[in-house]
Amino acid sequence: MLRVASVALLALLGAPLAAQDTPLEAFRSNIAAIHARDRAAYLSHYLQSAALVRAGPDGLVQGYDSFARQAASGWPDTLIATQLRVVPITPDVAYGAYRYRVVDSGASARGVSERVFVRTPEGWKVAVTTAFPTPGAAPPPRAFVGATLVDGMGGAVVPNAVVVLRDGRVVCAGPSSSCALPADADTVSAAGKWIIPGLIDTHVHFSQTGWVDGRPDALDLRARYPYPQVEAELHAAPERFFRSYLCSGVTTVFDVGGYPWTLELMGRTARSTTAPRVVAAGPLLSTIDFWLNLPDQRQFIYAADETTVRDAVRAHKAWGAAAIKLWYIMPPQPPDTARISALVQAIGDEARKVGLPFIVHATGLWEAKDALRAGARVLVHSVWSGPVDEEFLTLARRQHAFYVPTLVVPDGYRQIAARHFERDRQPLACVDPATRAKALATDTVAPKLRPTVAVLAERTARTERFFAQGLANLKRVHDAGIPVALGTDAGNPLTLPGASVFMELEAMQAAGLAPSEVLVASTRDAARVTGLDSVGTVTPGAVADLVVLDADPLADIRNVRRIALVVRRGETYTRRELEYR
Ligand SMILES: [Zn+2]
Repeated sequence: MLRVASVALLALLGAPLAAQDTPLEAFRSNIAAIHARDRAAYLSHYLQSAALVRAGPDGLVQGYDSFARQAASGWPDTLIATQLRVVPITPDVAYGAYRYRVVDSGASARGVSERVFVRTPEGWKVAVTTAFPTPGAAPPPRAFVGATLVDGMGGAVVPNAVVVLRDGRVVCAGPSSSCALPADADTVSAAGKWIIPGLIDTHVHFSQTGWVDGRPDALDLRARYPYPQVEAELHAAPERFFRSYLCSGVTTVFDVGGYPWTLELMGRTARSTTAPRVVAAGPLLSTIDFWLNLPDQRQFIYAADETTVRDAVRAHKAWGAAAIKLWYIMPPQPPDTARISALVQAIGDEARKVGLPFIVHATGLWEAKDALRAGARVLVHSVWSGPVDEEFLTLARRQHAFYVPTLVVPDGYRQIAARHFERDRQPLACVDPATRAKALATDTVAPKLRPTVAVLAERTARTERFFAQGLANLKRVHDAGIPVALGTDAGNPLTLPGASVFMELEAMQAAGLAPSEVLVASTRDAARVTGLDSVGTVTPGAVADLVVLDADPLADIRNVRRIALVVRRGETYTRRELEYR
């Protein structure tokens, strides 16, 4: 896909070998040499004298020799040049500028680059060159022309559509007759492609790694991967997962449980073009006193008594959490059932008082219904324990609850137990090398702790049984008119951030939902779960988060894997440049 984008850009910039009779031609040829990684051609555009000026955030440097040495230090993976302009100053001097975005192995940077051209006997040469990063600036206006638009609202598609983006928002999306092309916008031909809203994963965990080192309760490798160190690394560098999400077309995620620092991701990503928008619930309440915490901070707050849970809800409100999440695990036997149920009621009551949505992990029908009675607005995970019944459906409808099926995560745990990572199920190009290496190590790790063949067979049968129950319940819930939203539980072992969404979308389709219904569940309705009102659709006013596909997602949801471009807040990335190599 890099090639398609480059072709489009080169078309914008003109033929690389054009004559340099004007400063504009010289400027275009200068940029084309960067794209071609042609050092000799690149350097030929510069004034080869001590007068050459180079300026940036560090100040001014003079001289061709030092410039030529620095130019040997390597090319960016991708250089996107937009809004290239040249203005004459005198017959022999011209000023030019363009906006750039460069992508290197780890990062993406935007800025403005200027040139002053002077006329010489050898043609127009660059006498002054500058580059200044502009991290806070809105991406340049852009129009996608000719794609089939699937706007996320579930209605008819718009063939031959125009989608105009400006200042990080969609300003027009519809038939070409109704969206004029702005004169200042770069136009990208998207003929033969499909545009969908950016995907929204409503169930992720940044406090988990995608492997067992983040879940030693699944397989204890703490001797090799000390848990505090694993968690410190997650805290220090969530960016690798940001890129995995964008690479997979996921532009918004809901972290529904983790260490307190996950709450900081909200402010950090709200206006980012290099990360998905993160909404976070922070530490989760739990009906069991789960041990998986750090010595100095907790991700699981034990719902010990009413004072504890009401205080925890109010603290979440004070921290700015987007929701209250509860792990509702296994109803203890009476008389504890009544005590736990009363605590869940108190959590729901306090959440309502402070105005936070109540999200519940409940895989048993009894707990799920009890959670709905307590005011749950979102159920993450399917009901696995048996078929959902009329009472459940009535409660969910009455609560206007969302059902997040989270169908495939148990299979990751099964693969861990079997010591076999089924590597073809998730596109590993979007997975950062460290996470990929760990996933691939599954097959060889801790062979002595591997369960017996009989235990594994039982485990596989149980996972399949639960999965089939999850599919049947999803269909029933969806048919009953209860809104469904995409959620993977990414971060859990072998449910890899970003890459796992495709398995989940395909499981939803396998449950009997039409591709258009799966898409609405992954965009507009998932946006409702996050509480954000400006994402999840490609409609005027929405945040410019969208995905351009090479194949029709309404023919088969598997075509969502065929990502050409990802746009986050108006910044356009090729799939290729987001991949890890
Ligand atoms: Zn989860």
